Amino acid sequence: MRPMFGKRIALIKFDLVTDTPCPECRATQLQVRVMRDYHHFLTVPLYPTGRKMVTIYCSSCGNGQRVPAIREKYLQTATPALLYAGALPFFWMTLYAYLSDKAAQRRIRQCAADPQVGDVYQMKAYSNGTPMFFFLRLLQLDEEGKAHFYLAPPIYRTHMRRMDKKDQRNYSDTPNWTYLRTDLPGKVADGIVMDIRRNGW
Ligand SMILES: [Zn+2]
Repeated sequence: MRPMFGKRIALIKFDLVTDTPCPECRATQLQVRVMRDYHHFLTVPLYPTGRKMVTIYCSSCGNGQRVPAIREKYLQTATPALLYAGALPFFWMTLYAYLSDKAAQRRIRQCAADPQVGDVYQMKAYSNGTPMFFFLRLLQLDEEGKAHFYLAPPIYRTHMRRMDKKDQRNYSDTPNWTYLRTDLPGKVADGIVMDIRRNGW
């Protein structure tokens, strides 16, 4: 069975050089090949490795020749992007994850800086070192700068679930939790507020 991962060699350039005579027979057609190893996964190139190799063969006498000037010139051959093809999806996925994370953090900070009634906060707190997750729904912003929330009874010990919209316990008009409005951005920075969902977002 062929290994899934492995190394292969790629011909990245082939040229016929006609302006330099063969050191042996003086014929003027040299075959120049530039090659490079690459790692592959199921034959899809992932990443080039090692140094480029240049071989020079005379078309007339068929012998391999050392022509340092040609070798130096062809070592400059650019590695084709195709040899990175298999790595590109991972690159894009990583970039996407990074950018969407950035966008989410910005959105959460904006919501915390400008809270609106109806915002739902996903919270994480620690109780004796055990993380606990719960939801707060913003019910009221008062004149004294306080944000009054309703803490829904479902508290999750392992991970955050979606707020169950059919569970009436998640809804109430009576606040049971208060933060200073100006403290909200700090709660985001501390990681206590994991997410803020707002209608339309
Ligand atoms: Zn020759």
